Amino acid sequence: MSHMKAVSVKTPKNLEITELPVPSAGEGEVLVRVRAIGICGTDIHIYHGTNPLAVYPRIIGHEFAGVIEAVGKTANGGSAFSVGDHVTIDPVTSCGVCYPCSIGRHNVCSKLRVFGVQRDGGMAEFISVPAKNAHAVPKEWSWEKACMVEPFSIAANVLSLTNCAPTDRVLVMGAGPIGLTMLMSSLFLGARVAVADVLDSRLEFARSLGAELTVNSNKQNLADEMARWCPEGVPLIIDAACIPSLFPSLLKMAAPAGRVAHLGFSETPSPVVPLDITKKELSIFGSRLNCNMFPKVIGWFKNGLDAEKLVSHRFPFAQAEEAFSLIENNPVETCKVMLTIEG
Ligand SMILES: [Zn+2]
Ligand SMILES: [Zn+2]
Repeated sequence: MSHMKAVSVKTPKNLEITELPVPSAGEGEVLVRVRAIGICGTDIHIYHGTNPLAVYPRIIGHEFAGVIEAVGKTANGGSAFSVGDHVTIDPVTSCGVCYPCSIGRHNVCSKLRVFGVQRDGGMAEFISVPAKNAHAVPKEWSWEKACMVEPFSIAANVLSLTNCAPTDRVLVMGAGPIGLTMLMSSLFLGARVAVADVLDSRLEFARSLGAELTVNSNKQNLADEMARWCPEGVPLIIDAACIPSLFPSLLKMAAPAGRVAHLGFSETPSPVVPLDITKKELSIFGSRLNCNMFPKVIGWFKNGLDAEKLVSHRFPFAQAEEAFSLIENNPVETCKVMLTIEG
């Protein structure tokens, strides 16, 4: 096994399966034989050249899981892992010394390097990662389930920042894969959840997952629907649709003392009314990646959160390009698309 295959974006729009040497596990690292990788919006943006953070050529993929193949040397002689362990990988790596790192917010490190974005990722047969980024998962879990820990860590981060509680009513904007992880996670915490989107099929899926109310914001007036659902305003709004022109209206729908979380990467200005924030003492949160949320999410999955409901398609690794074109051409039918590598 001296060589391996990897999915590399050479330049924007130019995706290739390349042959590379198998990396070795350096000090403090583990070598992982990758068994499944989830495809995410970020991967699509890097493929299209619309992710301003990516550097090419790049092996993409930040939602991956596999088997420990080798354990590198450790400073203190012992490792938490053994060959054969099943692990899922937290893609966030940080410098450890900058201001956000110094206060425990390493997911917004000034020198942030995320697998599959600023450093080579998991769409490869093997990858060597810092042992502290690997998290053991039960061997009876499917590889797809292990991969779903990363997308749910995005939801765990939002719900942790905003202190989502069982008494909450939550509006999730957007019923794509990220919006649906927000829905399932808030429901798992005991909150009541409404979901808005513009695709009826996605809203139907959101209802089947337990959304109490769904709103097609192209056909219905979202503000009116929310005023009926929460006459005092919505306590927690999670913006996973991220349309800058809609953001000011979310502040109007929020309850006094409410929280609004935003996940978008748009650079388009949004005309927010400052009075809406002050008058109601709103808290507005940006949430990016995850800050040590893998153990929490693994616990949720062990306690019954069925993340595999979001997996809509599986492709063999060698058909990565077909998987990408399916996602782009069928937004209605696809939710989470997985690549799998036979062991
Ligand atoms: Zn992702
Ligand atoms: Zn840092």
